[in-house]
Order: sequence, then C-alpha cells, then structure tokens
Amino acid sequence: MIRFVRDMVRVLNLACEQHTALFSRELDEPIRPGERAGLWLHVRVCAGCRRFRRQMRAMREMARSLASGLEGGQAMPAGVRRRIGESLDVSGADGGAEDRAMAGEDSAPGV
Ligand SMILES: [Zn+2]
Repeated sequence: MIRFVRDMVRVLNLACEQHTALFSRELDEPIRPGERAGLWLHVRVCAGCRRFRRQMRAMREMARSLASGLEGGQAMPAGVRRRIGESLDVSGADGGAEDRAMAGEDSAPGV
C-alpha cells in the first residue's frame, strides 16, 4: 500500500512531458497500479495529457487494424496485388527487351 501511494504521488509530481512518456510506456508494458492511479488522476485535471493519451490510443488502434488487415491479406485487392507482382517480375525474356528499349538501343539514330 505504501508503494502504491508513493508511485501515485511520484507520478502526480511529474511534468506533463514525463506523463506522455509514461503513457507511451503504458501501451507497451503494464505499469504499476500506483502509477496508473497517478495518471488517471492527472488526466482528470490536464486536458493536454488527456488529448495526447486519446490520440496515442487511437493511433495504436489504427496500427492494429492495419496490421490485422495485412495479415488477412485484405489490405489490398487481389487484382492490384497481381498487377504489382507482374510489374515487378523482370525474370522473363520480355524484361530484358524492355530494359533495352528503355535504354534507347532500339531507337537511337546516329549512335
Ligand atoms: Zn498533463
């Protein structure tokens, strides 16, 4: 209990800049109950930190939904993926011809 109060008081005495670092840490790993209580109290009175925390959580949710879309293969339509794959495929004979054409070997008069 003493540790809880000590952590809470320590967090309450931090500057807002240090609170934002704690918000970030809170998303990555569990913080101590006293630290969580201190943050909870601080965001009740500090609009800036409250907004910052809400934006961090929103960004995390967006990143998670993007990652889950990529894992499920739903982030990009199949047709788009196929066309990108075809444009990146330079292993065939056409790729070499295309490279020569792009280098101007076929249409370079007087060289
Ligand atoms: Zn603050």
